[in-house]
Amino acid sequence: MKVLFVANEVAPYAKVGGLADVAGSLPQALARRDLEVRVVMPLHRQCLEHGELDVALEALPVRVGDRTIKATVLEASPPSSDVPVYFIQHDPYFDRAEVYGEGGSDYLDAPERYAFFARAALALTDALGFEPDILHANDWPTGLVPLFAAESGRQPATVYTIHNLGYQGQFPSDVAETIGVGQDAQYLKAVSHNDAINFMAGGIRAATIVSTVSERYAQEIQTPQFGCGLERLLQARSRDLHGVLNGIDYHAWNPSTDEALPANFSAQDTDAKAKCKAELQREMRLPLEPEAPLVGCVTRLAWQKGLDLLAEVIPAAIKLPMQFVLLGTGEEDIEDACAGLDATYPRAVAAAIRYDDALARRIYAGSDLFVMPSRYEPCGLGQMIAMAYGAIPIVHATGGLADTVRERGKPQTGFVFEKLTAQDLLAALKRAVAAYRVPTTWRDLRDNAMAQDFSWADSARRYEELYDLARFRAKAQLRKVG
Ligand code: ADP
Repeated sequence: MKVLFVANEVAPYAKVGGLADVAGSLPQALARRDLEVRVVMPLHRQCLEHGELDVALEALPVRVGDRTIKATVLEASPPSSDVPVYFIQHDPYFDRAEVYGEGGSDYLDAPERYAFFARAALALTDALGFEPDILHANDWPTGLVPLFAAESGRQPATVYTIHNLGYQGQFPSDVAETIGVGQDAQYLKAVSHNDAINFMAGGIRAATIVSTVSERYAQEIQTPQFGCGLERLLQARSRDLHGVLNGIDYHAWNPSTDEALPANFSAQDTDAKAKCKAELQREMRLPLEPEAPLVGCVTRLAWQKGLDLLAEVIPAAIKLPMQFVLLGTGEEDIEDACAGLDATYPRAVAAAIRYDDALARRIYAGSDLFVMPSRYEPCGLGQMIAMAYGAIPIVHATGGLADTVRERGKPQTGFVFEKLTAQDLLAALKRAVAAYRVPTTWRDLRDNAMAQDFSWADSARRYEELYDLARFRAKAQLRKVG
């Protein structure tokens, strides 16, 4: 089976959030199952920081509406990988400081950039003579891929994965001409939602199969509370809507080999975790109090992540006692609130406002607990990484957090609060402190968490099943049309 995986972020070349991790790992896991997978992404400026790229195609003409734009295609194929990654180069669109935009909003020409990218990804298959059975598009920047794919004579089956419904690529309806859908009533209908152009709505309507990154989130997004205005559209496609949990790459996230840590440890021998905690307290200028459980938090600072709730309970939580280490960047007011907590409670809260992969690793390793009070969480990687590093997650029962962390039932792997209130979060923190005080309970909890296996192999098998289903459905559709 041949698959073209289309994404706007792919680790390590350009990463903003969890999508990049998925796009970096899933194609490799599929290749290990003997699928022939190729990846295509835009050549963002960041991609050039990761070694030499070869020119795969000098000139790829890309037709968008009535214009033809010339792209160059670069290629990276690290020797350790069976998965070629192609980069669509068109510097006026993608040679920019950031991937999506600066100052918290998308670049103004976002619709044009991603209509071009969708067309370029499809043009690439023809130019390479690579005929995919499956086009797998991801999140709003690739929402037009399933739509435009139907144009090609071969009509490959399409899978569209929603990694976060909160970002839909919504634009005023007058961009229709620029993105080349203005002249076609069917296209226009497919990408229109509430009098606007909506790339994600286009992907959901046009794809053979729609998926999202946990079973719980697949259910949640069909409700008004989590559907971000697209719930009716998603309900209409519920027969074709599936949840497949993301995995994590245990080679990249392994406390026994992680070079960013002051000392390494494993599930079999966790002794060095105490050293990681002490070093983290020193690095973050917190008092060395082994008795106070240390709670880590590594996250984008966005409304979604519920940091306001955490800020509300911290004054009470530090009296339990507890210490907090926060690492994140994002929305300015949340950054200020985190810095404010650090300034107000210097002996119990330390905040670093930046993106820092090595510090993130030291936080996972040095923390006793890891908190994710997300309002919604499609899958969440933080809680899985935390478990691998022996930090016990405290999570809101939503999306992938609810699917991966268990408090009641066996084995217990963390602390889960149902209602998103300060009271419930504080109660969960108190349960965690109580467990921390009983060494045998704590050891069992840590053993359980570290024994969890969220590797990609299982998820890749599920995606392969979805691909089979998509092919079956697409064939049935063709027969019906024929
Ligand atoms: P999302 O995709 O919504 O941002 P996830 O939990 O799925 O959330 O993935 C977040 C990933 O980004 C994790 O690997 C986390 O460690 C990492 N991360 C988030 N913020 C930072 C930061 N400031 N510094 C380093 N890593 C970060």
